[in-house]
Amino acid sequence: MSDLHVIIAGGGLGGLTLAQGLHRAGISVAVYEKDPTAAFRNQGYRIRINSDGITALKAVLMPPAFELFAATAGNPGSRMDAFDHQLNLLHAQELPPAPDLPGGGHLAVNRMTLRQILLSGLDKAMHHGARLTHYDTDRSGAVTAHFADGSSATGDVLIGADGVNSAVRKQYLPQARVVDAGLRLLYGKVKLAGDEARALVPPELLGLWTTVIGPGKRFVGLAPVQYRESMHQASARLAPDIELSDDSDYLACVFGARREQIPCTDEELFAMTGAELQALTLSLVEGWHPGLVGIVSRQDPASIFPVSVRTSVPVAGWKTTSVTLLGDAIHVMSPAIGVGANTALRDARVLTGRLVQAAGGRPLAEALRAYEEEMIGYGFDAVRESAGRGHRLVGQDPLPSPQE
Ligand SMILES: Cc1cc2nc3c(=O)[nH]c(=O)nc-3n(C[C@H](O)[C@H](O)[C@H](O)COP(=O)(O)OP(=O)(O)OC[C@H]3O[C@@H](n4cnc5c(N)ncnc54)[C@H](O)[C@@H]3O)c2cc1C
Repeated sequence: MSDLHVIIAGGGLGGLTLAQGLHRAGISVAVYEKDPTAAFRNQGYRIRINSDGITALKAVLMPPAFELFAATAGNPGSRMDAFDHQLNLLHAQELPPAPDLPGGGHLAVNRMTLRQILLSGLDKAMHHGARLTHYDTDRSGAVTAHFADGSSATGDVLIGADGVNSAVRKQYLPQARVVDAGLRLLYGKVKLAGDEARALVPPELLGLWTTVIGPGKRFVGLAPVQYRESMHQASARLAPDIELSDDSDYLACVFGARREQIPCTDEELFAMTGAELQALTLSLVEGWHPGLVGIVSRQDPASIFPVSVRTSVPVAGWKTTSVTLLGDAIHVMSPAIGVGANTALRDARVLTGRLVQAAGGRPLAEALRAYEEEMIGYGFDAVRESAGRGHRLVGQDPLPSPQE
């Protein structure tokens, strides 16, 4: 066992996946998360996990935890169809299956469930209520992370996995910008449990992801999360040490529009109650197919929250040091191709591999440079692809050039 010690700022999907990989490899790791508890904030929304994400989770998780992830994920198939606002089919798309992966490489999970699985076995490594404010490095390369409560932690490497507003990125790469992509989303859930609820949603709208596009490129995205067994049954059967919160089937129902089409300021939007957000959504889909309006009107108001879509602006590589970045902290992207989390999971898998090499004697700087070169390639490709598709389909702002 090496004496490499890794500090991760941010215990979201990417940071926890990295922590799992390092823990499994016997590398010393500590995660510092600003939220006071694991259950803080609304984290119970749908995340689509594609073959990159599944491959990453398979590589880092202990087998029972991976089995539990696969068993608690919905398996909605591979259809990504688009309809107009009167539900006429515009475009049918079937994604190719990855035959060796659960769900053919197309799964839909509840974010909270995935986080509970990713937290398993990490009790000693997790530090909640630790908001990183800044870091400093000494001549030997050791990094000290400083937290809002005045405490600090020192390690050989600091990974900024602290999401879109990353404090690590702001200090380390002030040239790396995050900009408003021009879109606002209203995320909500419709209960799908029981025959009556299921009957409200025609089967053709229950693919992996369905986009309904209306006037002015306003859109509604629909995506089911349907479980095959209860959380308790699955964990009792596969990984009794992992405690999961209950959940029931739902349809993620997301309204989106360009910010100019939302008849209020961001400040007003973010101050609205769930019922007000639902009324706003209904006013913006007036005249659309009654079946679709019926689905929107069945959103649980308590589940609705607004999102201001942001994107990173790709930057050129930088000088490698003992600080690096992962996930949304470096390549946040619009949800247009649904791969933000999957790219963060891929980062975690690739970085785990490089840090295992460093623990085995490869110079740390060389290992981190190899990670950064690979991640900058596929990470910013995904940012560009998301921005391109988002622009064509729903009017996302084009990516500014790095100089703008
Ligand atoms: C509603 C919604 C639906 C989405 N659906 C999909 C999907 O279907 N598929 C997909 O691939 N992606 C999806 N995404 C995107 C995806 O959630 C993100 O890309 C992913 O969570 C990025 O992981 P991360 O670990 O980089 O960041 P996060 O998961 O955001 O984690 C960052 C963590 O850092 C913590 N933190 C922040 N600042 C500090 C600090 N200073 N100190 C310590 N801790 C800090 C935060 O509290 C958080 O826990 C969705 C996003 C949203 C909002």
